[in-house]
Amino acid sequence: WSSPLSGLAHRKSLNDSLEGEVKAFLLDEGQLHTYDDLTKVNPVTPTTVLKCLQARYRAKVFYTHAGCTLVALNPFQPVPDLYSLDVMKEYHCAPQPQESKPHIFIVAEEAYRNVQGQVEPVNQSLVVSGESGAGKTWTSRCLMKYYATVAASSSLMKSQDTVERIEKRVLDSNPIMEAFGNACTLRNSNSSRFGKYIQLQLNRSQLLVGASVQTYLLEKTRVAGQPANERNFHIFYQAKDCFDETVEAMVHLGINAEKQGHIFRILAGLLQLGNVTFCSAMDESQPCDLEEKSKDFMHRCASLLCVPVEELQTCLRVQTLRAGKQSALFKPCSLADCSVRRDCLAKVIYAQLFEWLVTFINDSICADHSTWCNFIGLLDVYGFECFQVNNLEQLCINYANEKLQQHFVAHYLKAQQEEYVSEGLEWSFVKYQDNQGCLDLIEGIPTGVFSLLNEECLLNRASDAKQFRVRLEKELSDNGSMSWDKFSKQPHFTVAHYAGKVSYQIEGMMEKNKDPVPPELIHLLQKSENPLLHQLFADRDPVGQGTRGLRQVVTVVSKFKNSLENLMKILHSTTPHYTRCIKPNTDCRPLTFKKEEVIMQLEACGIVETIHISAAGFPIRKSWYRSCDCTDFVFVLQALMDSLAEAELDDAEDLQEAMPTELDPILRARGSVQLSSIQDPVMVRGWPMGLALASAPT
Ligand code: ADP
Ligand code: MG
Repeated sequence: WSSPLSGLAHRKSLNDSLEGEVKAFLLDEGQLHTYDDLTKVNPVTPTTVLKCLQARYRAKVFYTHAGCTLVALNPFQPVPDLYSLDVMKEYHCAPQPQESKPHIFIVAEEAYRNVQGQVEPVNQSLVVSGESGAGKTWTSRCLMKYYATVAASSSLMKSQDTVERIEKRVLDSNPIMEAFGNACTLRNSNSSRFGKYIQLQLNRSQLLVGASVQTYLLEKTRVAGQPANERNFHIFYQAKDCFDETVEAMVHLGINAEKQGHIFRILAGLLQLGNVTFCSAMDESQPCDLEEKSKDFMHRCASLLCVPVEELQTCLRVQTLRAGKQSALFKPCSLADCSVRRDCLAKVIYAQLFEWLVTFINDSICADHSTWCNFIGLLDVYGFECFQVNNLEQLCINYANEKLQQHFVAHYLKAQQEEYVSEGLEWSFVKYQDNQGCLDLIEGIPTGVFSLLNEECLLNRASDAKQFRVRLEKELSDNGSMSWDKFSKQPHFTVAHYAGKVSYQIEGMMEKNKDPVPPELIHLLQKSENPLLHQLFADRDPVGQGTRGLRQVVTVVSKFKNSLENLMKILHSTTPHYTRCIKPNTDCRPLTFKKEEVIMQLEACGIVETIHISAAGFPIRKSWYRSCDCTDFVFVLQALMDSLAEAELDDAEDLQEAMPTELDPILRARGSVQLSSIQDPVMVRGWPMGLALASAPT
């Protein structure tokens, strides 16, 4: 994380100055750790929420409700008995699990009970979000184990040599997918480099009978190169560590010894390929040479991938230009292009292998359609990302987060508003961020970033970052979510996401979107005598994937947008439950709570807004019906403080303007405080206004 959150510093200083005030209204700071639900914290401000979470973390309480969502703080150490079988049973058997201590199992159980709706079954989705290392995958695994335990069915599945219970198979998909899709990064030693949506299929008796997995955007570039101090995918290191576990899971899922052999030969081939380096030829008209020490690597690579070594060498160093149906021209690749081709070969093989594994897993764990009727979906996707340099991957990831945020807000606001109506309340002071403008900017047709990017890629000309930036500015400068840093020399654009501003580098973005694979490489792989490798590419149209015939090419963003649209359709058809994982410190140290880091994450997932949305003064509203007590006063002050904090006000006049919109409905509803009592905005900033109000309510 760099610090993209606009106005954060300003807001922070404002909050710091208000902290003294806030303290005065907390009922008892010593009791903060006992607040199971952040909606009970009073008033709800970033500072009070933070304090409450910190107090709970210190007391080793890791789960806290935030109204309609659950906040999970990563303990970064095993917590004895937090997820034991007994604890699962306790939550499963509780008449009112919501009344037990906050726990991920409450969310699990609630979804489980909901799935068998009173009128008809309602499918459920458990959305787990948070930044890398926050605990999403851990949480998803806990949820899977929970269902594999409480919904264990007696159904058995036959694999090659064994008969396995379905629950075991579903759980066994985790170590395989993690071996091939996770890697050690600076932020998480077991970081998932793909998004995952898994549907747990339940039969009429609510028993787990199968599952299916959908994956998103594997970070395949990692196979060819990693940022400093990060590693390749785990599987490449497992020939020591964890290998037995992966192989055992493979066996359980029906990947027999022969197939394993094919897989591991391919992986070994990729390792050899990674060692191959090139040097310029003496005669520049000739293809580049192999570095002397690379010759052995090349031979071993060809032998492991079961392709002719001569042809492999040629493919990596010579471009074939088709001239009509019969003839072809051969053009030596530049030194840089040879490396690009080598990496491209590794990436395309690895990505295809991963996809094959996912399909195999699905074939192995998916129940027959006639046997299941409802599902509980678990979504474990990468959180909002903002690095020093952001490119297409971050744009896709942040776009996905925008979509999820919109879904979240729409879902809960709707529910909340229905509640208002049923209670005869006409107003809501919750001001939520509508991110439709940002979504239009990215996905809009025909002039969103994705459409323009696709258009640029279809033009089949050398990509020019500067030119594309000009085009973006021409088409999108009206959109308030788009901006440009005038001082930056790099072609870029900046998007104001709900979680903060992110600048995206344009250089390289078109190539990433096209993701071209030279047809020669596909032809070569189709000749492989490794049956699995051959199968991976058998149906692939080599030319359709190349830079020519681009009309057939499905770009990275259009593929991603499509799969995300399908996911959103599924989410919309289900009842969602949101869990926000928080990483209390970036060093992954046990029981260390860094306030600045946590508050950024709270902002990134809009937790304070969430609490407002779900609470809408829920504890306050109740007392407000009954009698006017001091909570009313706190409520008004809190709204004031929020308006101060959120408005990013620069001078007193702004404040005066912002005040009535924020406060008017509240003050009118209260009846006892008149807006006219706010005389001097400067005084309000200086806070004596608190005193003025204090005397006003009766
Ligand atoms: P994410 O998927 O969000 O990137 P992970 O789920 O992989 O993060 O969590 C990162 C690490 O944090 C885990 O490998 C584990 O060591 C630790 N961790 C996460 N959640 C818990 C938990 N509830 N209890 C103990 N350790 C946890
Ligand atoms: Mg993960």
